[in-house]
Amino acid sequence: SAAKVVVVGGGFAGATAARFLRRENPKLHVTLVEPNATFIACPFSNEVLVGLRELSAQQFRYDALKREGIQIVQQAATAIDADTRTVTLSDKTVLSYDRLILAPGIDLDWKALPGYDEAAAQRMPHAWKAGEQTTLLRRQLEAMQDGGTVVISAPPNPFRCPPGPYERASLIAWYLKTKKPRSKLIVLDAKDQFSKQRLFTAAWKQLYPDNLEWVSLSQGGKVTSVDPSTNTFTTEFGAHKADVGNVIPPQRAGRIAELAGATDRTGWCPIDPVTFESRLHKNIHVVGDAAIAGAMPKSAFAANAQAKICAAAVAKLLRGETPAEPRPINTCYSLVAPDYGISIAGVYHPVNGLLADVEGAGGISPVDAPAQTRKAEADYAAAWFRTITGEVFG
Ligand code: FAD
Repeated sequence: SAAKVVVVGGGFAGATAARFLRRENPKLHVTLVEPNATFIACPFSNEVLVGLRELSAQQFRYDALKREGIQIVQQAATAIDADTRTVTLSDKTVLSYDRLILAPGIDLDWKALPGYDEAAAQRMPHAWKAGEQTTLLRRQLEAMQDGGTVVISAPPNPFRCPPGPYERASLIAWYLKTKKPRSKLIVLDAKDQFSKQRLFTAAWKQLYPDNLEWVSLSQGGKVTSVDPSTNTFTTEFGAHKADVGNVIPPQRAGRIAELAGATDRTGWCPIDPVTFESRLHKNIHVVGDAAIAGAMPKSAFAANAQAKICAAAVAKLLRGETPAEPRPINTCYSLVAPDYGISIAGVYHPVNGLLADVEGAGGISPVDAPAQTRKAEADYAAAWFRTITGEVFG
């Protein structure tokens, strides 16, 4: 009988893996476990926050996957037994597998930042999982008076979407400058360095000198606690009271990865960079944000690339063949303003058990570029989103 592969999580990584498994071998039994009927994508959700886009443009369903013969089970996985090779679902159904692909994305770490728990997120949204949280933060920005203060706290590494907090800061600064010009945004950062920093800081100086202030770790940016009852961020150097407070807290692999015993003490999942098989359990593979992918960032682009590699490797392993060494790539676009895009690209290869940068490949947008280059990159960003969501869900 045909081999059974169960995929847990129907986001960028999991939905890609399910589809590409069937393309590698149409005889495979592929089951995708995902509790939500509609997936809400994070890329471009920063545009939703500032009214440049509606949340409905972020929503995708699984009909195309169903038509291709993938079995979609609308449940959450609640337990995984690596010895008996079974997955238990929230309705107590038990699925057995020959190979399991875990793609649960991230969980916010509700214990990492004193004062910040799930209840606090109703007052100080994270908006780091798109959906209700995106809408909540957007409503708060819309309701804020001109002259108000917005505060964003950015987490330490590693976290989902390294340039994401800075794209968000840029677009909120754009919103303030154009709609509420007497207002101010302060970014409190737990780091001294961040992705595409030279490009972002040059653009901020040019576009938002009066509306955006970035406070680095060394300048006292690390937030040590928050108080949702007063919207206050406390740092080692003092306190900032916000009219709108956006807390992007520390993160870890989705909880089911921990329940499967696939996480190490960092809270993320160590994997083999050729097959994405867990280093802690045989026959379990981990792709997307939950995995420790070395130099590859936690992005939708990377999740999609890893899932294709993993699907090909799983199909080969099930046939008793040896998977080839991968050369995945990543590109992350960010918008600094509606017509102002910048990007970073990388190429990776396995070195000493980790995915490392291929020296001399990849790079970032030029620091000095004409407006038409920035406009072209904003168009490429939109085209990338259409292409990837079409490939994964369309
Ligand atoms: P997800 O896409 O989050 O999917 C995980 C899925 O697993 C979810 O559907 C969840 O419901 C499901 N799941 C979780 N637990 C279980 C369980 N127990 N049982 C069953 N299912 C479960 N990336 C880019 O490449 N470009 C960008 O421009 C970009 N912009 C971003 C902007 C923001 C503001 C943010 C927050 C992120 C951005 N990202 C971007 C990053 C991107 O969203 C993530 O890297 C990507 O979603 C990771 O894919 P994933 O499949 O690992 O996780």
